[in-house]
Amino acid sequence: SMPEFLSGITLPPVPEHLSLEEFILSEPTDGRYRPFRPGSAPWLISDTTGQNLHLDEIREKTAGLANGLHLQFGIEEDDVVLIISSNHIYYPLCIWALHRLRAIVSPCNPSSTVSELIHQLSQTHPSLIIAHKTVLNVALSSAREVDISEERIVILDDEEQYHRGFMTVANLTERGLRNPFDWMGRKMGPGEGRKKVAFFCASSGTTGKPKIVAISHFSAIANVVQIATLNRVNEAYTSSDTRRYRPGDRCLAVLPFYHIYGLVVAIHFVLFSGMTVVVVPKFNFEGMLKSIVRHKINQLMLVPPQVALLCKEPVVKNYDLSAVRAVLCAGAPLSSELNQQLIDLLPNAHIGQAYGQTESTGVVSMWPTRTKHGFNGGELAPGVRARIVKSDGTLAGYNEPGELLLKTPAAALGYFGNEEATNEAFVDGWLRTGDQVMINEENEVIYIDRLKEIMKVRGFQVSPAELEGCMLGHELVADVCVVGIPSDYSGEVPLAFVVPTAAAAAMMQQDPEAIFKAKKLIMEYVAKLKSPYKHIRRIEFVNEIPKNPSGKLLRRILRERAKGLAISS
Ligand code: AMP
Repeated sequence: SMPEFLSGITLPPVPEHLSLEEFILSEPTDGRYRPFRPGSAPWLISDTTGQNLHLDEIREKTAGLANGLHLQFGIEEDDVVLIISSNHIYYPLCIWALHRLRAIVSPCNPSSTVSELIHQLSQTHPSLIIAHKTVLNVALSSAREVDISEERIVILDDEEQYHRGFMTVANLTERGLRNPFDWMGRKMGPGEGRKKVAFFCASSGTTGKPKIVAISHFSAIANVVQIATLNRVNEAYTSSDTRRYRPGDRCLAVLPFYHIYGLVVAIHFVLFSGMTVVVVPKFNFEGMLKSIVRHKINQLMLVPPQVALLCKEPVVKNYDLSAVRAVLCAGAPLSSELNQQLIDLLPNAHIGQAYGQTESTGVVSMWPTRTKHGFNGGELAPGVRARIVKSDGTLAGYNEPGELLLKTPAAALGYFGNEEATNEAFVDGWLRTGDQVMINEENEVIYIDRLKEIMKVRGFQVSPAELEGCMLGHELVADVCVVGIPSDYSGEVPLAFVVPTAAAAAMMQQDPEAIFKAKKLIMEYVAKLKSPYKHIRRIEFVNEIPKNPSGKLLRRILRERAKGLAISS
């Protein structure tokens, strides 16, 4: 037999003919259930300016922006538009306007360096870049390198009409509203949403450099429905006092919108469930505590380092966190100690984890509503089928560890323009997660370890292959292997084993000072080319990198060796 794990809950039908924007912003006409939203509750609030947006205004501005993008830049179906911005109240509006035109949104990390942005641009070939003004220079330098004209850059800003001569989203929205609409909000045919790409998200998957994950409208909608069903947001399952997610709740969006967790969970699930998104441009711990008090925040969605700060920083006791009804932690492993400390800190709140990935468009499992406090990766979401492959290649039963394989309606279409990587990741339609887990009799995922080479630093993916490729560009580096070493705050941080070039090795033999200098030079080199969370925190010089006879790097051996090492800072 083929042991397979399934959620006990049935997934309601997921619309196959809607764009994500239609699903979120339009009135359901087919009897679909929508949680009741208190009329006075805004959809979006800016944490910094206090500006808020209600549905009517969002619909109007979204239509205007779509028209403006079409009139001014000719954006149309299947065009790719890259958004590089910190969280902003207009960020979701840009997504929805582009979805109205049936264009593809390619969200990008605003901390990207020029070379990182070039990588994403050259993989996705966008016809327009929407950039926050704080990253305009990075956008300009990168666009130049890939022959995108400066005229194809728009500033994500809702106050000024122009910024340094560049047109803003506010300007486009106004233009769009002033002019007749000359595009049709084309309705998709039955089943079309399954193939129509909504997002191009960056992820390395289990191995190699960052790739572009193509996510359909259907997959994104499916994940929202999965999370909503698992959390029973559309049922009066308990009195309103004991519900985990309540319409009218305010959720603090400190998660970056460009990452699947922010994109699907903190924006679309939250809005679908009748809650308000309080948009925070950049995470800052004390700022977060202040915002929780100021906005009487009910919902927190965090990554483990943020939970660690909540548990460990004494300043927390100066803030009244009593309005917090639930804290969700996901993106990287949370230790059971921290999990318990968080429960001790907020004993009345629902607290638990979700597990998922970009390739499954968000949440695969989440702690069930029957338990207020969850301690592991949670219960499989409705519609998810799971298999666990043991190290001997056979399929695991309950409570047996192995690699998790998934089939889910929310599965991504694959890696854009990379059939080889797609075929490696999806085997007979099963997504290989590269995560070692067990599943218990309650269909709960118990996360054990990562089998894949990708690291998670503060919840962000770090690809060893990407850093190795980068470091090989340095004149002192002959060979290199990057692995993660544990860090209290970040979860793990990159460490590099480096084989110095012959010349560098000779120099270091004569002068011990040169060792220190060489490490510094190499680290600074990486720091110039890569986002801060990818920076190398420690270098160990070695004579060789262990490889198998066919030249494949034996990362495992160096991972073991790294276990005994610490970072100095
Ligand atoms: P990403 O595509 O950036 O969301 O990364 C997905 C990966 O993050 C998963 O395959 C896991 O390795 C890790 N991850 C996500 N959620 C959890 C969790 N709750 N516990 C442990 N690891 C997690």
